[in-house]
Amino acid sequence: MKVKSYAGSLKLTFLGTRGEVEARSRRHRRHSALLVQCDEARIMIDCGTDWLGRLDAVAPTAIVLTHAHPDHAAGLAEGAPCPVYATKVTWDLIRRFPIDGRRRLPLRRSIMIDGVRFKVFPVEHSVRAPAVGFRVSADDGCFFYVPDVAGIPDAAHALRSINVYIGDGATMKRSMVRRKRRTAIGHAPISSQLDWCEKGNVQRAIFTHCGSPIVRGDARKLNAMLRRIGHQHGVEARFACDGDSLSFADSGYRRW
Ligand SMILES: [Zn+2]
Ligand SMILES: [Zn+2]
Repeated sequence: MKVKSYAGSLKLTFLGTRGEVEARSRRHRRHSALLVQCDEARIMIDCGTDWLGRLDAVAPTAIVLTHAHPDHAAGLAEGAPCPVYATKVTWDLIRRFPIDGRRRLPLRRSIMIDGVRFKVFPVEHSVRAPAVGFRVSADDGCFFYVPDVAGIPDAAHALRSINVYIGDGATMKRSMVRRKRRTAIGHAPISSQLDWCEKGNVQRAIFTHCGSPIVRGDARKLNAMLRRIGHQHGVEARFACDGDSLSFADSGYRRW
């Protein structure tokens, strides 16, 4: 008998697309968070300050954290309505939060969360709040989600055969990466992330966690610029806005 290891069809909704910035706009109102739906699962990735007191409306069955920075975790400061998954270092940093259902994410390994497979990849971003990215897969597709990233040490594995790369929109071209000893800290520009996509033969990229110039800027011009840079790398690229969704079943991710 063949055992079915994957869940059904993925639907993604960008609940929030704003980075750790003061600026807000209609398109990028709340801190970056992604809702992954698959059968009965409603898995929320990240839960920053903007989500405090707003989780009833999201009704997640699980919350998964990339790291402990406030724009990704502080929405849980008053607790959570469901189990929460985080790495050991993230749990240490948010140990004061009154969360009952604490689950540990294993590094460089896969874990099934409500029937959806998450593989956890450590990424370069912060020394104080070490971050991870997730390779998420179901029957009809696979994507990589990394809202805060300066570098992906194991990019070849992380990005292999994914349908969509969902990355860090803090900055278009200007680097926000510093080096501490041998580690990169901060945010890789979109242009570098498109380089990684090109090397990994990834054909589509969506950017969330938007920085101030993108939150405040003219959406049409910014998307046109992003498309242009994307094409130079052979990648179809766009920015996500709050409320955008895409379904893998009807290949919605192809119809931009
Ligand atoms: Zn952030
Ligand atoms: Zn961060």
